[in-house]
Amino acid sequence: MLILAVLLFVEVASHVLWLPALPETWLFSVGGFAELTVLLIILIMFWGVQRDELPVTAYNWLTCGLGLWLVSAVADVMDELVQQPRWLSAFGEDLMRVFGMSLVACGVFSLMRHARRVHQQLNALAHTDELTGLYNRRYFNQLSKAMQPQGLSLILLDLDHFKSVNDTFGHSVGDQVLRELGRILSLHCPKGGYASRLGGEEFAVLMPATEDERLHALAELVRQAVADMRIGHIVQLTTSIGIGQLRRGETPEQLQQRTDRALYRAKALGRNRTEWAD
Ligand code: GH3
Ligand code: MG
Ligand code: MG
Repeated sequence: MLILAVLLFVEVASHVLWLPALPETWLFSVGGFAELTVLLIILIMFWGVQRDELPVTAYNWLTCGLGLWLVSAVADVMDELVQQPRWLSAFGEDLMRVFGMSLVACGVFSLMRHARRVHQQLNALAHTDELTGLYNRRYFNQLSKAMQPQGLSLILLDLDHFKSVNDTFGHSVGDQVLRELGRILSLHCPKGGYASRLGGEEFAVLMPATEDERLHALAELVRQAVADMRIGHIVQLTTSIGIGQLRRGETPEQLQQRTDRALYRAKALGRNRTEWAD
């Protein structure tokens, strides 16, 4: 970069100050050398990138584009030093440069699209629970904060005696149960709501402020759907549920704590039931 800066400075300064004093050939070569230096720096950096780290299309566009551009830059500099065929110095060189630049532009565009795709995939991965495909706790917390000003309604679920499912039928059947519960929650989650897995066998549905009756009816619908769920030899599964509404001046964390207490009250009162947060 330093070499490049010096070359460009010499180029500009020579045109402004020393134009009459320097040999013409030398003057014109400076710009060509600067271009060659930039291309070589880019190529060296590009060399450091393994082929499989880039999408094939972008790699091919960039390799061909930079190659052509480099050949045209070499021809440009050589023009000042040796006598070249007229077709090369008159239009071949410029043609190669234009094609090379266009291919590099396509490569950069392809790289930008790749970067956007990777960014979207990483975003989705960071927000998603791998087993169920629901949102994870991190995104649930972000959403709670973002939705707080419009009011919040919350359903918290915890499967009853889930440990005994794992102990009796094995971990993979346990996983199957969790995936099925994820499917049930996605199915019943209202528009504008977010079904999430908070961890283990604890799930949540976060919604914008919803009337008490609708919230309770939805919780009961989910509770019944879990009770009706049949997987392999499992006789019956149930879930305990806590439901709550965000109060004025309350934080989403406080709502979650109140609703969690309601959920554990549902457990203490015999499980397979829905309790309101107080
Ligand atoms: P309770 O009715 O009091 O909620 O009892 P429980 O057995 O459901 O609760 P406990 O907290 O004792 O056990 C939760 C179990 O959930 C223990 C753990 O093995 C299981 N678990 C947590 N994450 C996963 C998972 O990703 N897959 C499977 N298969 N099991 C999990
Ligand atoms: Mg449980
Ligand atoms: Mg639990």
